[in-house]
Amino acid sequence: MKLERILPFAKNLLEKAVTSGTVVVDATLGNGHDTLFLANIVGESGRVYGFDVQEDAIQTSIERLKQHGLEDRVTIFHAGHEQLYKLIPVCHHGKVTAAIFNLGYLPGSDKTIVTKPVTTIAAIEQLLEIMVPEGIIILVIYHGHAEGAVERDALLTYCQEIDQKKAHVLQYRYINQQNNPPFIIAIEKR
Ligand code: SAM
Repeated sequence: MKLERILPFAKNLLEKAVTSGTVVVDATLGNGHDTLFLANIVGESGRVYGFDVQEDAIQTSIERLKQHGLEDRVTIFHAGHEQLYKLIPVCHHGKVTAAIFNLGYLPGSDKTIVTKPVTTIAAIEQLLEIMVPEGIIILVIYHGHAEGAVERDALLTYCQEIDQKKAHVLQYRYINQQNNPPFIIAIEKR
Protein backbone atom coordinates (compact mmCIF):
# COMPACT_ATOMS: atom_id res chain seq x y z
CA MET A 1 0.00 0.00 0.00
CA LYS A 2 1.42 3.36 -1.06
CA LEU A 3 -0.97 5.58 0.89
CA GLU A 4 0.39 6.24 4.33
CA ARG A 5 -1.40 4.44 7.14
CA ILE A 6 -2.88 6.40 10.01
CA LEU A 7 -0.44 5.74 12.86
CA PRO A 8 2.74 6.10 10.74
CA PHE A 9 1.29 9.38 9.44
CA ALA A 10 0.96 10.59 13.05
CA LYS A 11 4.55 9.59 13.82
CA ASN A 12 5.86 11.35 10.72
CA LEU A 13 4.08 14.53 11.72
CA LEU A 14 5.56 14.27 15.20
CA GLU A 15 9.02 13.83 13.72
CA LYS A 16 8.57 17.07 11.79
CA ALA A 17 7.73 19.01 14.94
CA VAL A 18 9.98 17.30 17.49
CA THR A 19 13.75 17.62 17.38
CA SER A 20 16.58 17.40 19.85
CA GLY A 21 16.13 19.89 22.68
CA THR A 22 12.41 20.56 22.13
CA VAL A 23 9.59 20.60 24.69
CA VAL A 24 6.66 18.30 23.92
CA VAL A 25 3.49 16.90 25.49
CA ASP A 26 2.07 13.38 25.59
CA ALA A 27 -1.47 14.23 26.69
CA THR A 28 -2.52 10.58 27.19
CA LEU A 29 0.32 8.44 28.53
CA GLY A 30 -1.50 5.11 28.45
CA ASN A 31 1.17 2.42 28.20
CA GLY A 32 3.85 5.01 27.49
CA HIS A 33 4.66 4.10 23.89
CA ASP A 34 4.34 7.64 22.56
CA THR A 35 6.25 9.07 25.52
CA LEU A 36 9.12 6.68 24.89
CA PHE A 37 9.12 7.63 21.21
CA LEU A 38 9.17 11.34 22.11
CA ALA A 39 11.81 10.96 24.84
CA ASN A 40 14.15 9.36 22.34
CA ILE A 41 13.81 12.28 19.94
CA VAL A 42 14.03 15.22 22.38
CA GLY A 43 17.35 13.96 23.70
CA GLU A 44 19.02 14.92 26.97
CA SER A 45 18.36 18.64 26.55
CA GLY A 46 14.66 18.29 25.72
CA ARG A 47 11.62 17.63 27.90
CA VAL A 48 8.49 15.52 27.57
CA TYR A 49 5.48 16.33 29.78
CA GLY A 50 3.16 13.34 30.13
CA PHE A 51 -0.37 13.26 31.55
CA ASP A 52 -2.75 10.52 32.55
CA VAL A 53 -5.55 10.12 35.06
CA GLN A 54 -4.93 6.40 35.75
CA GLU A 55 -2.35 5.19 38.22
CA ASP A 56 -1.76 2.05 36.11
CA ALA A 57 -0.85 4.16 33.10
CA ILE A 58 1.54 6.27 35.17
CA GLN A 59 3.34 3.22 36.58
CA THR A 60 3.53 1.40 33.22
CA SER A 61 4.94 4.52 31.55
CA ILE A 62 7.56 5.09 34.26
CA GLU A 63 8.60 1.44 34.06
CA ARG A 64 8.90 1.59 30.26
CA LEU A 65 11.03 4.75 30.43
CA LYS A 66 13.27 3.22 33.12
CA GLN A 67 13.83 0.13 30.99
CA HIS A 68 15.30 2.46 28.36
CA GLY A 69 17.10 4.77 30.80
CA LEU A 70 15.06 7.77 29.60
CA GLU A 71 13.04 8.69 32.70
CA ASP A 72 15.12 11.83 33.34
CA ARG A 73 13.79 13.45 30.14
CA VAL A 74 10.16 13.08 31.12
CA THR A 75 8.00 14.80 33.73
CA ILE A 76 4.93 12.74 34.46
CA PHE A 77 1.76 14.20 35.94
CA HIS A 78 -0.92 11.99 37.45
CA ALA A 79 -3.49 14.55 36.32
CA GLY A 80 -5.84 15.31 33.47
CA HIS A 81 -4.40 17.06 30.41
CA GLU A 82 -6.96 19.83 31.02
CA GLN A 83 -4.58 20.99 33.76
CA LEU A 84 -1.57 21.27 31.50
CA TYR A 85 -1.38 25.08 31.41
CA LYS A 86 -1.12 25.22 35.18
CA LEU A 87 1.22 22.20 35.53
CA ILE A 88 3.76 22.83 32.77
CA PRO A 89 6.32 25.25 34.23
CA VAL A 90 6.00 28.83 33.03
CA CYS A 91 9.58 28.71 31.70
CA HIS A 92 8.31 26.29 29.03
CA HIS A 93 5.23 28.31 28.07
CA GLY A 94 5.73 29.47 24.50
CA LYS A 95 8.19 26.63 23.83
CA VAL A 96 6.04 23.54 23.24
CA THR A 97 6.54 22.25 19.67
CA ALA A 98 4.23 19.21 19.62
CA ALA A 99 1.51 17.36 21.50
CA ILE A 100 -0.11 13.99 20.93
CA PHE A 101 -3.47 12.74 22.15
CA ASN A 102 -4.35 9.07 21.74
CA LEU A 103 -7.99 9.32 22.66
CA GLY A 104 -10.39 6.71 24.02
CA TYR A 105 -9.62 4.09 26.66
CA LEU A 106 -6.46 2.26 27.60
CA PRO A 107 -6.47 -1.16 25.85
CA GLY A 108 -6.57 -4.00 28.36
CA SER A 109 -7.64 -1.71 31.17
CA ASP A 110 -10.76 -0.09 32.60
CA LYS A 111 -12.90 0.78 29.55
CA THR A 112 -15.04 3.14 31.60
CA ILE A 113 -12.13 5.58 31.90
CA VAL A 114 -12.17 7.40 28.58
CA THR A 115 -11.11 10.77 27.30
CA LYS A 116 -13.97 13.29 27.15
CA PRO A 117 -14.58 16.10 24.67
CA VAL A 118 -14.83 18.88 27.25
CA THR A 119 -11.44 18.11 28.78
CA THR A 120 -9.80 17.29 25.45
CA ILE A 121 -10.95 20.63 24.04
CA ALA A 122 -9.81 22.48 27.18
CA ALA A 123 -6.36 20.94 26.76
CA ILE A 124 -6.22 21.89 23.05
CA GLU A 125 -7.10 25.50 23.90
CA GLN A 126 -4.39 25.61 26.55
CA LEU A 127 -1.85 24.09 24.17
CA LEU A 128 -2.60 26.71 21.54
CA GLU A 129 -1.64 29.28 24.19
CA ILE A 130 1.71 27.71 25.09
CA MET A 131 2.94 26.34 21.76
CA VAL A 132 5.43 27.87 19.38
CA PRO A 133 4.15 29.03 15.99
CA GLU A 134 4.13 25.92 13.71
CA GLY A 135 3.72 23.71 16.79
CA ILE A 136 1.58 20.68 15.99
CA ILE A 137 -1.19 19.00 18.01
CA ILE A 138 -2.11 15.50 16.85
CA LEU A 139 -5.40 13.92 17.85
CA VAL A 140 -5.71 10.20 17.17
CA ILE A 141 -9.44 9.61 17.34
CA TYR A 142 -10.73 6.16 18.23
CA HIS A 143 -14.45 6.23 17.56
CA GLY A 144 -15.43 2.56 17.62
CA HIS A 145 -16.94 2.79 21.12
CA ALA A 146 -20.02 4.82 22.10
CA GLU A 147 -18.19 7.63 23.94
CA GLY A 148 -15.61 7.70 21.15
CA ALA A 149 -18.29 8.52 18.59
CA VAL A 150 -19.52 11.36 20.80
CA GLU A 151 -15.98 12.67 21.23
CA ARG A 152 -15.33 12.41 17.47
CA ASP A 153 -18.38 14.53 16.67
CA ALA A 154 -17.59 17.14 19.31
CA LEU A 155 -13.97 17.41 18.18
CA LEU A 156 -14.87 17.67 14.51
CA THR A 157 -17.30 20.46 15.30
CA TYR A 158 -14.79 22.26 17.51
CA CYS A 159 -11.85 21.83 15.13
CA GLN A 160 -13.79 22.99 12.07
CA GLU A 161 -14.51 26.22 13.92
CA ILE A 162 -10.94 27.04 14.91
CA ASP A 163 -10.17 30.40 13.31
CA GLN A 164 -8.00 29.77 10.26
CA LYS A 165 -5.91 32.78 11.22
CA LYS A 166 -5.07 30.94 14.41
CA ALA A 167 -4.30 27.43 13.11
CA HIS A 168 -4.26 25.11 10.11
CA VAL A 169 -6.46 22.07 10.76
CA LEU A 170 -6.15 18.83 8.82
CA GLN A 171 -8.19 15.62 8.86
CA TYR A 172 -6.42 12.46 7.68
CA ARG A 173 -8.84 9.60 7.38
CA TYR A 174 -9.69 6.56 5.27
CA ILE A 175 -13.34 6.91 4.39
CA ASN A 176 -14.25 3.47 3.06
CA GLN A 177 -13.05 1.19 5.86
CA GLN A 178 -15.20 -0.95 8.12
CA ASN A 179 -15.19 -1.06 11.92
CA ASN A 180 -14.44 2.63 12.51
CA PRO A 181 -10.63 2.58 12.38
CA PRO A 182 -8.88 5.54 14.04
CA PHE A 183 -8.22 8.74 12.16
CA ILE A 184 -6.24 11.89 12.72
CA ILE A 185 -6.87 15.54 13.21
CA ALA A 186 -3.71 17.65 13.14
CA ILE A 187 -3.71 21.26 14.28
CA GLU A 188 -0.77 23.47 13.41
CA LYS A 189 -0.62 26.76 15.29
CA ARG A 190 0.05 29.77 13.06
N1 SAM B 1 -0.74 6.82 24.02
C1 SAM B 1 -1.02 5.64 24.82
C2 SAM B 1 0.01 4.56 24.55
O1 SAM B 1 1.00 4.82 23.86
O2 SAM B 1 -0.15 3.47 25.09
C3 SAM B 1 -2.46 5.18 24.72
C4 SAM B 1 -3.44 6.14 25.38
S1 SAM B 1 -5.02 5.45 25.76
C5 SAM B 1 -5.75 5.26 24.20
C6 SAM B 1 -5.93 6.82 26.46
C7 SAM B 1 -5.44 7.22 27.83
O3 SAM B 1 -6.02 8.49 28.15
C8 SAM B 1 -5.81 6.29 28.97
O4 SAM B 1 -4.67 5.81 29.61
C9 SAM B 1 -6.66 7.17 29.92
O5 SAM B 1 -6.42 6.90 31.28
C10 SAM B 1 -6.17 8.54 29.54
N2 SAM B 1 -7.05 9.66 29.91
C11 SAM B 1 -8.40 9.71 30.01
N3 SAM B 1 -8.80 10.95 30.35
C12 SAM B 1 -7.67 11.71 30.46
C13 SAM B 1 -7.43 13.07 30.80
N4 SAM B 1 -8.43 13.94 31.06
N5 SAM B 1 -6.15 13.49 30.83
C14 SAM B 1 -5.13 12.65 30.57
N6 SAM B 1 -5.29 11.34 30.24
C15 SAM B 1 -6.56 10.88 30.19
